[in-house]
Amino acid sequence: MFITFEGIDGAGKSTQVRKLRNLFLTRETEVLTLREPGGTDISEKIRELLLEGDSDITPTGELLLFAASRAELVQRVITPALDTGAIVILDRFYDSTTAYQGYGRKMDLDIIHRINSIASCGLEPDLTFYLDLSPEDALIRKFSEKSLPLAFEPEELDRMERSGLDFYTRVREGYLELAASEPHRFRTLDALQSPEELHRIITETVLASAGS
Ligand code: C5P
Repeated sequence: MFITFEGIDGAGKSTQVRKLRNLFLTRETEVLTLREPGGTDISEKIRELLLEGDSDITPTGELLLFAASRAELVQRVITPALDTGAIVILDRFYDSTTAYQGYGRKMDLDIIHRINSIASCGLEPDLTFYLDLSPEDALIRKFSEKSLPLAFEPEELDRMERSGLDFYTRVREGYLELAASEPHRFRTLDALQSPEELHRIITETVLASAGS
């Protein structure tokens, strides 16, 4: 079974990925958790290039690097793990590309879909949890976690804050449209619920879908 988590930065994906992984571990089910971009040597190098460098990359370059990282991860790790019967939980997959590069950066959606299909080698998630959060609430969460002073230098701003609220508003709209267009695969959850309540709903959905 292949499960993906989606949402804008700060929506709480990694907490839910960790909780779901623990659930499978307590049930002695083989489970692999991964994040995008990353998960193989090459994909981690691409992650560094994309997220940790200061390089001024073009939207097309960004799109293709995310795709290259995904192709490596799918072929070298995800597909072999699924073939052994393991559960694979992935923090971000091609829906992130559609939402961020397609809706956020306004790139042509047909091109995005074609690149997504090449990079994922046709692999589709069985279930996708979209943790829905407004960019305003995401920023409030971030700033309360960081306890930044009210006046701060621009270099203290991370990728999210630099991209701006309009960008993240488009990303969220993209996710909502994707979720509405594929209701069999997507479960949209209000990310403002407590982590425990979210985990309860996710567990219920996964177990029902796995037929246990
Ligand atoms: O999920 P995580 O916080 O690890 O995502 C890493 C960063 O990559 C985030 O800042 C996210 O906004 C960005 N990203 C992106 N385009 C994607 C996937 C992630 O800009 N397709």
